[in-house]
Amino acid sequence: MPDSTASLRIILGDQLDLQTAALRGAKPGRDVIWMCECHAEATAVWSHKARIVLFLSAMRHFAAQLEQKGFEVIYHRMEDSAPGDSFASRLVEDLNRKSPEWVVLTWPGEYRVLTELEQACKESEVSVDLREDNHFLVSHAQFDEWAAGRKLLRLEDFYRRLRKQTGILMTADGEPEGGRWNLDADNRKPFPASGPKDVPAHKGAKLDAITAEVIQLVREQFPDHPGSVDDFDWPVTRRQALATLKKFVKERLAGFGPHQDAMWTGQPFLYHSLVSSSLNLKLLRPMEVIEAAVEAYRSGDAPLQSVEGFVRQVLGWREYVRGIYWLKMPDYADLNVLGAQQPLPDFYWTGETDMHCLAQTIGDTLQYGYAHHIQRLMITGLYSLLLGVRPEEIHRWYLAVYVDAIEWVELPNTLGMSQFADGGMLASKPYCASGNYIKRMSNYCKSCRFDPSKRTGEDACPFTTLYWDFLDRHQERLASNQRMRMQLNNLKRIDAGELEKIRAQAIKIRKG
Ligand code: FAD
Ligand code: SF4
Repeated sequence: MPDSTASLRIILGDQLDLQTAALRGAKPGRDVIWMCECHAEATAVWSHKARIVLFLSAMRHFAAQLEQKGFEVIYHRMEDSAPGDSFASRLVEDLNRKSPEWVVLTWPGEYRVLTELEQACKESEVSVDLREDNHFLVSHAQFDEWAAGRKLLRLEDFYRRLRKQTGILMTADGEPEGGRWNLDADNRKPFPASGPKDVPAHKGAKLDAITAEVIQLVREQFPDHPGSVDDFDWPVTRRQALATLKKFVKERLAGFGPHQDAMWTGQPFLYHSLVSSSLNLKLLRPMEVIEAAVEAYRSGDAPLQSVEGFVRQVLGWREYVRGIYWLKMPDYADLNVLGAQQPLPDFYWTGETDMHCLAQTIGDTLQYGYAHHIQRLMITGLYSLLLGVRPEEIHRWYLAVYVDAIEWVELPNTLGMSQFADGGMLASKPYCASGNYIKRMSNYCKSCRFDPSKRTGEDACPFTTLYWDFLDRHQERLASNQRMRMQLNNLKRIDAGELEKIRAQAIKIRKG
């Protein structure tokens, strides 16, 4: 687009940074900003109330900031949006009314949104300047170049390459800091029986008038949506997000590594950073998050195992899943390699189940719009995998219930990492485990009526029954996977009579 042309700059709800690519070169008085809250986006999946509040409040704060800078902002509010309104239909109306020559857009976070916006511009015969999202460290072209010709797209290779390229946690002679690339072995510890000690108290962002107004709006317009907004305190401005990051680095980062995978009743946040929603809405930039953690290591405030563990998530996993999403979409969303066909159990929307681990995780999710990674992967995700829930259904659940859920990050994590629906494009083996894993990594089983060591009988843990049933059902497919060998060998040790009982009990569980 020529520099001097007047344009319409689209800002989506997850592009809320003055440095977003769509605002590059924008001039108040010449370029117009376009933002839209709309019903169809809030209901595309059955969104948690807190997720809707987060997006709307953060958008309204950002629009006010743009207006303070002198921009004209065309802003469509939810109050004026009728059910069925999509932002594409709103955009077409405004393009026809304003007739800009160009629309400028930062690459969206969802394939469907990109397609709809491109179609709307085509319909209105407006040229589109689609810009690379500068809130990722790896561009589409760089990821595609890395992936080209590789049989396996493994996180570990990608992550090491990025460490080398960026010099993050590297020594002057090109070696990984501390001599190892991966400190996971030091980082998978459960808590002692007495539980986590001195977990810093959680203190989120303060509500202001804009957020309070949006909470009221969501309560009125989306009363039957899942979840609560009673405890809403997620950052909705860059200033609040920076404060959350600072607090994490000061109070929690040091403890992040060792107990990264541990879970504990009544402790939803533990040592986690709570920055995902801010990163995904672009209130924070990934490099500043990484640098803050590395600085804590350099100044001796946090050990390497915690800092490397954290950097691996943001520099490695976050960039990697985004690359996979855009490389494999749109076909990726339809994958169901394990042929899973069960409906999602109703209790995923209420938390009402006797299985204490699921009740806790879903309870946290409904209360805060948050559960930490291992709760997502090894409680709700694991149960869905073992039960054999249709990937499409569990994907829509994850996209609905977390405040940080945007499809580019949610879908590969759900379909690939957690459900193995892509047959191993992303994970080298299914994350399948029995109730014994949950017993080891949490105190959930202590307050549960089931026994994680039992696979059949009245008090058998459903995870344990379904785990053996999962191995049994998929043993042929998994037999060629070296990393599954030990688990499949253990399956072979179960005698035929016991296996029949496991199968029968699994059928009973599936029937609810
Ligand atoms: P921390 O545990 O403190 O980790 C630090 C940061 O690393 C996170 O904020 C996040 O930006 C990044 N990160 C960590 N793990 C991953 C990962 N696997 N993929 C991408 N980035 C990662 N994350 C989302 O941001 N949105 C989602 O919709 C989402 N859906 C998920 C669904 C499933 C089934 C699973 C298993 C994981 C999902 N994750 C998702 C990844 C991860 O669980 C969350 O990023 C993390 O729990 C957010 O909490 P936190 O900010 O306290 O993260
Ligand atoms: Fe979960 Fe099974 Fe433990 Fe109960 S016994 S908390 S269902 S793993």
